[in-house]
Amino acid sequence: MAKILNGKEVATRIKSELKSEVDKLKKTGVIPGLAVVLVGNDPASGVYVNAKKKACAEIGIYSEEHLLPENIQMEELLNLIKELNERKEINGILVQLPIPKHLDEEEVINTINPLKDVDAFHPVNVGKIMLGNYDFLPCTPAGVMELIKEAGVEIEGKECVIVGRSNIVGKPQAMLLLQKHGTVTVCHSRTKNLKEVCKRADILVAAVGKPQMIKADMVKPGVIIIDVGINRLENKKLVGDVDFEGVSNVAAAITPVPGGVGPMTIAMLMKNTVKAIYAQSKYNLLP
Ligand code: NDP
Repeated sequence: MAKILNGKEVATRIKSELKSEVDKLKKTGVIPGLAVVLVGNDPASGVYVNAKKKACAEIGIYSEEHLLPENIQMEELLNLIKELNERKEINGILVQLPIPKHLDEEEVINTINPLKDVDAFHPVNVGKIMLGNYDFLPCTPAGVMELIKEAGVEIEGKECVIVGRSNIVGKPQAMLLLQKHGTVTVCHSRTKNLKEVCKRADILVAAVGKPQMIKADMVKPGVIIIDVGINRLENKKLVGDVDFEGVSNVAAAITPVPGGVGPMTIAMLMKNTVKAIYAQSKYNLLP
């Protein structure tokens, strides 16, 4: 039976380390601040925003929410972001995605000051990740790396297979594993022989958004499985992209859903908000 990689526990540990760091920063008069912008009232986005607010409160990070109406126009949204860019007590800015279709997501991301872009979605930060010289790591792939560390496995020389090539998970994940000297394969909807490719993996990251699609016969014994997927079944149960029951009989270690990558993503966002202080201090952007 596979070792369960408990993301909730690891995230709690990381948040408690961050709290100590924030306590120290506060003694020097610096309080990290995060602004979260939510457009419209999508219930799932609302849940994520609340979880982020709660994590900030636990750690001692100042947080503020900007809840904007669904029909807000681009100019107003961009003006808010520009205002947040200027405010010295705000170190991190996060626009909860997705945003309504009439708004230009790319322009919104491009307007955030890269030094405050705690999601690491701005092209400057994406480029820095490619070069391996970054201020921030994108939260979900960074959380995945922590969970691989938790499994106690060395990435160097390992066959790493990622299923999914999105800009927020699959692609940056590939870069991070490559920087740790993994041999990386990225699969997507056009990949031929997915099963054979997955079977090569020593470390498999599933980020597809298809409930339980990775089955026990698609993986090799002893594999480390990181399941990024979050899917709600018709019976309301949350499941990942991996068939947890079947695959945990074959894998050496596996993340559960919920309680795996999800809590890590939020812990990494908190880490980025604190890191932003150091990045901004280089450019005299602090109060
Ligand atoms: P996207 O929909 O942006 O990307 C999905 C990827 O999966 C695409 O690259 C797509 O290929 C690929 N794909 C789709 N079907 C198949 C298939 N049959 N075989 C192989 N590849 C396939 O999703 P995200 O990356 O944003 O999210 C993936 C999952 O992770 C979702 O369930 C999401 O909810 C979850 N998630 C969880 C987070 C967390 O904190 N735990 C954070 C972010 C996401 P193609 O490019 O060819 O279309």
